[in-house]
Amino acid sequence: MKRVVWLLLAILSSVPAFAQGKLNVVTTTEDLASIARDVGGDRITVEAMAKGYQDPHFVEAKPSFILKLQKADVLIVVGRDLEIGWLPPLIQQSRNARIQPGSEGYLDASMHASILEIPAGQVTRAMGDVHPQGNPHYWLDPENGKRIAKDIADKLSQQRPNDRAAFEQGLAGFTARVDDGMKRWLAQMAPFKGMKVVTYHRSFPNFAARFGLDIVGYVEPKPGIPPTPQHTLDLINEMKRQNVKLVLIEPYFDSKTPNSIGRATGAEVVVLPPSVGGVKEATDFIKLFDYDINLLVEAIKKTGAK
Ligand SMILES: [Zn+2]
Repeated sequence: MKRVVWLLLAILSSVPAFAQGKLNVVTTTEDLASIARDVGGDRITVEAMAKGYQDPHFVEAKPSFILKLQKADVLIVVGRDLEIGWLPPLIQQSRNARIQPGSEGYLDASMHASILEIPAGQVTRAMGDVHPQGNPHYWLDPENGKRIAKDIADKLSQQRPNDRAAFEQGLAGFTARVDDGMKRWLAQMAPFKGMKVVTYHRSFPNFAARFGLDIVGYVEPKPGIPPTPQHTLDLINEMKRQNVKLVLIEPYFDSKTPNSIGRATGAEVVVLPPSVGGVKEATDFIKLFDYDINLLVEAIKKTGAK
């Protein structure tokens, strides 16, 4: 009997400790996971669902995602309808009340970010455009990374008030790393301000605005719509007219059309990863920009720009 009481006491006393264990954070993308990891440090566990080399609009929903969501204390999403094609049924099937949209454990990381291309009129997905709520690739401005990190720190602190100081420290460390990186990246890109480029998908407006690129066209006629012969022809003519010598493509698109555009215009075609994990070198949010800016500078030099 004594043994049973002791056992019961041991189990009961372990419950509060378990409840205050590491916060289980799940994110939709590796970019958000990287930022959350920096902010949360050893007080949280973090797992991303989509891989950085996948198109975040079209991720194949796996049963393992539902298992992750079932255990999650916090779910962080990019929002702006980026994940609308795959995430909502998974959240629903997880039956986890903590992470349903609007619940305490749900964080839309776009809430305080600077969002570009918010449509003035009515845009619906029925028109084929996958950016009806403004451009969802906003993490590609490091300044938005800092805003995302602040929202994550607030959310984690709300869930674990006792760890607030640790999260604030994590946030300060991340912010300092971004500020350091910004000095480096802006200095590298400064000589090429106004460089004209074409990109495959509208993944890089925030990146271009921050680092001084001028995007003059897209391989896709509309976000999410594959290239058509007529659009490609128009794009080639426009690139020739404006002397565009650089085409940036995301790793998950077919390079056939971009390569033919490159041949027709003499432009360099460069695969630029838009996410952490898109290439093996981009192991975290800071290293993603280190990789992309270095690659871009090399490519720009190849085109003969100063
Ligand atoms: Zn997109």
